[in-house]
Amino acid sequence: MSSKRIAVIAHDGKKAEMVAFIKDHVDYFDGVEIIATGTTGKHAENAGLRVDAKLSGPLGGDAQIASDLVEGKVDAVIFFRDPLGKHPHEPDVLMLLRLCDVHNIPLATNPASALFVLKGIIDGV
Ligand code: PGA
Repeated sequence: MSSKRIAVIAHDGKKAEMVAFIKDHVDYFDGVEIIATGTTGKHAENAGLRVDAKLSGPLGGDAQIASDLVEGKVDAVIFFRDPLGKHPHEPDVLMLLRLCDVHNIPLATNPASALFVLKGIIDGV
């Protein structure tokens, strides 16, 4: 069975929450391939994951992940968005979220839903 590939992204205001989520559930990520936007990827590596890091989000990292996704290379997206912040790359973010729906890819935007997605991906639900 090929391993699952999950994209992990967090806006700056949510990076601490993402790191906490990874540390709390690091065992769940065993055997899962992780791709991430650049800065999130560095944080995730510091939290104990091996990560294929793309460019930073504002420089196109979300678009790179979207490109992988449309090619069938992403099984789920965990994207902790900051609902209180403004982001220069909002069009890229919306594109990625839209393409999750176009391609029926599980998308979690907060820790509660991320845990369901993570468990579901691992259990093959
Ligand atoms: P970053 O990008 O991980 O490089 O900060 C995340 C984003 O804001 O899309």
